[in-house]
Amino acid sequence: MGITYRQWVRENILREEPLPILSESVLQRIWFESLVRNPFTTLHGETILLNHPGFWNHRAGPDFLRASFTATGGSLQEGDVEIHRHSSDWHAHRHSGNPLYEKVVLHVFWQFDPTAPPAPSSIRQIALADQLAAPLTELISLFQSSSWEMSAGERPGRCRQTLLSLPPEKLREILEEAGWHRLRQRRSLAQARVAAHGFQQAVWIALAEGLGFSENREPFASLARAAPIQTLLDLPDPVRREAILYGVAGLLPDPTRIPCSPRAQGWVQNLWNKWWEYREAWRDRTLPPSCWKMGSTRPNNSPLRRLAALSFMTRPDIWRSWLGTVQSGNAKAFLDQLKAVHHPFWDQHSAWDGRILSAPSRLVGWDRATALLFQVLAPLADVSEKDLMQRMVSWPIGGSAGMLRSACLRLLGVPFPLPDIHSHLAREGLLQIYKDFCRREADSCRNCSMPEVLKHR
Ligand code: SF4
Repeated sequence: MGITYRQWVRENILREEPLPILSESVLQRIWFESLVRNPFTTLHGETILLNHPGFWNHRAGPDFLRASFTATGGSLQEGDVEIHRHSSDWHAHRHSGNPLYEKVVLHVFWQFDPTAPPAPSSIRQIALADQLAAPLTELISLFQSSSWEMSAGERPGRCRQTLLSLPPEKLREILEEAGWHRLRQRRSLAQARVAAHGFQQAVWIALAEGLGFSENREPFASLARAAPIQTLLDLPDPVRREAILYGVAGLLPDPTRIPCSPRAQGWVQNLWNKWWEYREAWRDRTLPPSCWKMGSTRPNNSPLRRLAALSFMTRPDIWRSWLGTVQSGNAKAFLDQLKAVHHPFWDQHSAWDGRILSAPSRLVGWDRATALLFQVLAPLADVSEKDLMQRMVSWPIGGSAGMLRSACLRLLGVPFPLPDIHSHLAREGLLQIYKDFCRREADSCRNCSMPEVLKHR
């Protein structure tokens, strides 16, 4: 078939600017995912075990707050983490003497610069270059646009005409090839997570991320790392598991101070009492409530409701069955299990104060459930690519909201995939091309190589 989408991206994007792509945001994402060899070695040869990468800080100050690790001799250390491309950036960015950086205990960078003065000796230095858990090119490709969000007001782009002039089967072939590229990226991230954290925890993180998608993906992923599934499964009482999830998320209201719905009062009080027993032990892992985006999501997709769905999945029998479903790649059972997710309060409410939804609604709606097929099942199913491809043909297709809508507008000039190319892989392919090409050319298509590549094809 000639050049593949993977070669295409490598030749037209990675080759263009090999260094700028290894940005701090890529390194931050690698750290957030803990895709480093653990334990790892500091510049001074000390071996340390990372217990928690810390909470991603998008405001002024260090990149991660409240990380914890076990140092040589077994002492537990806590503090903030600053991430740079070069060790010399500590001084170049004038962090010394800045009170915001006083609690930094780890300075993590890609490359050590022996000519630059080091960071203060109290801060351990870590060069990531030889300590990744997956190949760098794969990680760059996975994370280079991780913070992309849907932009409002997307306009049709320069290759729309060329794409639409292609015979439908050719257009579909190109998009599906890009879709495969996207799926392989997800599968390689899933494999790296399985290698780093085990299959069960990798499923737990993927499920949490998928439930948080898109605006609360990051806090959900942080929560899944802070409250590992095995720790929750070890607690036989479902109220305790739920209390820990809402408590560690920082989203459990103190019923003596914050008004709750009379319908929820007794139950919230019960959760709060249980959380009180754990609060001190989990203090270091508790997320700051400010990391959640509450106002901009639709009431049905409130993180409080999605958290109830996550909590439902921690029932040991349900979790065991869910793991088997994911491993075997059984899409029907996967969707049936998500359909059964429910909660006596959150099925009808969107906030603790008792705001009632206009109609009772599933905690995991149809569009989210079908999206999770691609975010959880396809990356983690223990089936061959060929088998997966055959199975996907019969998977149901969800709606066209968010990023897909933007991608369709930019690439096809309409806000939905055309009927001829309405397959799972073609939809994923639209998203991948949008991420790889259009998001890099946010304002114009002037420097984009895609139209040339298409002409070639
Ligand atoms: S940025 Fe590139 S891929 Fe996107 S519409 Fe413009 S020319 Fe096409």
